[in-house]
Amino acid sequence: SIRKLVLGNWKLHGTLSANGSLLSAVREGVANSAITASCDVGVCVPFPYLAQAESALTGSDLAWGAQDVSAHASGAYTGEVSATMLRDFGSRYVLVGHSERRMYHAESDQLVADKAKIALDAGLIPVVCIGESLAEREADQTLSIVERQLAPVLALGSDVVRRLVIAYEPVWAIGTGKTASPEQAQDVHAAIRKLLGEDGASVRLLYGGSVKGANAASLFAMADIDGGLIGGAALNAEEFLRIAEAG
Ligand code: 13P
Repeated sequence: SIRKLVLGNWKLHGTLSANGSLLSAVREGVANSAITASCDVGVCVPFPYLAQAESALTGSDLAWGAQDVSAHASGAYTGEVSATMLRDFGSRYVLVGHSERRMYHAESDQLVADKAKIALDAGLIPVVCIGESLAEREADQTLSIVERQLAPVLALGSDVVRRLVIAYEPVWAIGTGKTASPEQAQDVHAAIRKLLGEDGASVRLLYGGSVKGANAASLFAMADIDGGLIGGAALNAEEFLRIAEAG
């Protein structure tokens, strides 16, 4: 079976001092548990805190990474951060195409695929985020939306697809406390696995959207749910560790 992955997405939260406590509590919790025997754990932090995550987590079983990356390698792109810069700070993972990037920064499916490609080429593991809105679900478009979102990613070919992580995050479940039921999530995950074909057999499919300590185990028990992408609950060490324990 596929080794699970629980990733925190801190979004636009944190301070040097709050992060220091959170990182050391998570590091300690992981060191004093059997979590990483069955599950990889990491945190995706705001860019300025990558150096802090690197110094706090080096030598532990925890990985870290970023929440976005430039589609460009270098050049006149003010404000952007490249994949090689993320690697310079020891990042393992990078989120691409989070729904908040798609929504507030008009990221297209093709741009998200370009970001996944440049991240992989730099040695990062891209976590490609997809998922439908409430209106799309109500219009029965969930599967066609995830298919459309994945199309330019799949076009990158087997070598790329086999090395990705995909996070299914229904937009209506993000930050709303309205978690998809394990069955709802499993249905979409199974469809995603099918879209990936042979390349999908070992691709980790994470679920994201109001995952908490109390609902993680029932989600992670589903056949095609290989872990979680955790927003709000990742800001609390105890809650985040409880989720990782379910992995
Ligand atoms: P919440 O866990 O806060 O719902 O956020 C999910 C998410 O968007 C993770 O990327």
